[in-house]
Amino acid sequence: MRGRLFYRFMADAIFDINDPQSLEDKMRENWNNEADITWIDPKKPMVALSFDDGPVDPVSETSPAIRIQNALRDSGMHATFFYWGNTFNEGTRAEIERAQELGFEIANHTKTHPHLPELSVEEMKAEVEYMLPVLKEISGREKFLLRPPYLDVNEALREMIDVPLISCGLDSMDWAQATAKQMIDKIAKACENDSLDGKIVLMHETYDATAEAVEFLVPYLKAKGYQVVTISEMFKARGKDMQAGHVYGECPQ
Ligand SMILES: [Zn+2]
Repeated sequence: MRGRLFYRFMADAIFDINDPQSLEDKMRENWNNEADITWIDPKKPMVALSFDDGPVDPVSETSPAIRIQNALRDSGMHATFFYWGNTFNEGTRAEIERAQELGFEIANHTKTHPHLPELSVEEMKAEVEYMLPVLKEISGREKFLLRPPYLDVNEALREMIDVPLISCGLDSMDWAQATAKQMIDKIAKACENDSLDGKIVLMHETYDATAEAVEFLVPYLKAKGYQVVTISEMFKARGKDMQAGHVYGECPQ
């Protein structure tokens, strides 16, 4: 601990202390990006759809989560799924396993979906570590992107966390009762005006409206030349490093 504090002190002296990001970034290890990008053409546009608040209980062919998985699978596309502890149990574990088997990125959304900045560091740790054994066992990987609930981040979280934090560059607003048509219009418009390229899109796998939108959008985006990829795939395909404690909402070309 003392060594790290000393290094921080030295780093403060060396790097620009007026830029809080630069200190963090230079000291942290890069995200060990294990994504397989052999199927991705880095020159083509891409977008990372991402889905929070799963798994959905119970697991069934009519659950919005499985409909979303199937829409991606049927177009040969990928996405990132942020899972929480609220609905995780031995039954819903099957949904996470299915996401892993389909080549999707499984990621972390805490245990009980709190506002992390309102917690002590110990409480924060308990929240962000709860799903790790499950995600490790299912994927064989060691670390997982974290989407903080409500995209709510403070300095203590950025300091404590050993993985990149994921925000969003485009919000579907499904959490605010957006209809499937509203989501489709918003994303199709971004596709048409080229602002969608490189964006992380915030969605939730818990709504039927979201599933309906995704069932339309994935084939639509594919037809427009877009690759629908995981967050880690997008950064790796574009040769961009990700760092622990840094917040990412997009990956520009
Ligand atoms: Zn959430």
